[in-house]
Amino acid sequence: MDPSWSSLKDEDLLALRICDLGVRLETSDLKPRVDQVYEELAARGVSLRPDSYLGDEWFSPEGVPAIAIPFYLAHPRLKTLELHQMLEVEGGTAEWCQMLLRHECGHAIDHAYRLSSRQDWPTIFGSPDLEYSPETYTPRPYSKSFVRHLPNWYAQSHPDEDFAETFAVWLSAPPDDWRERYRGWKAIEKLEYVDALMREVSGNPPLVRRGRRISEAKNLRTTLARYYTTRRKLYAEDFPDFYDADLRAIFGNDEPGSEPAVKLMQRHRGALIASIVQWTGQRKYTVSMLVRKLMLRCRELNLTAPRDTARLHFELSSYLASLVTNHLYTGRFKRSV
Ligand SMILES: [Zn+2]
Repeated sequence: MDPSWSSLKDEDLLALRICDLGVRLETSDLKPRVDQVYEELAARGVSLRPDSYLGDEWFSPEGVPAIAIPFYLAHPRLKTLELHQMLEVEGGTAEWCQMLLRHECGHAIDHAYRLSSRQDWPTIFGSPDLEYSPETYTPRPYSKSFVRHLPNWYAQSHPDEDFAETFAVWLSAPPDDWRERYRGWKAIEKLEYVDALMREVSGNPPLVRRGRRISEAKNLRTTLARYYTTRRKLYAEDFPDFYDADLRAIFGNDEPGSEPAVKLMQRHRGALIASIVQWTGQRKYTVSMLVRKLMLRCRELNLTAPRDTARLHFELSSYLASLVTNHLYTGRFKRSV
């Protein structure tokens, strides 16, 4: 039976408080996803089943063996709202959801057995006391010292994330598979370490059994409208403001009879954003806000599109991809899971 709010229009739905939605993990499409992770744990001989619950985003509460899953994944109407508000749904497909669950499961297992406090742990992953800022890091894209699981070489963001990513790969496939896939990579040492570690601890009772469910959806009194205002603010990155010279180099100024640059960008906006997102791994909302900003600037500068549009398309997409990637390397890159 669908809740009464499922037929509301976005603007009316946004007025509701998250705690009043009454969404439950057990009766949602997330249940089989969580069960699959539990089955994978069983298949690897791990007896612990981390607590899982609906929260306000993807995370595992610090020091608690639990997995928080964003509440909007628990109902198709909320997924549609998320798509309208944020332009994409993180973990919205079964496969994507499974990858994020395995990653958070890695944190939860770390918390349960306090793995990152072990003496040998830093020699493999680095010191977990490193300043925690996985949103700002400088990945080395071709490094073979890290597994590849979530996009943006996320394993390189922090030792704790490196562990969670390595754990996710270890959990997702039998050892023969990852040994084959990572043959000759330095990352295999991390996978072998996790394999040995899990064999050692998996039969033991966890050191931490439970803890507080931080930001549980049923306790969130904020309205959906406020929730989205906050997240949109967070995702709208502060890209630096010096595009004018670049834009002038890409476009032209007032060639008689030529199309305004903003019109051309408007026409190709969807394809442009899709390809930047595909190849940079950046959030769609972030890229979309950047494109919007550049379009405004093109209008203010009265830029026009040169006649050789094929070249222009290549230049524009290369430029945007490099803006996003440089920003990813040097700026505040707001992704954390
Ligand atoms: Zn993480």
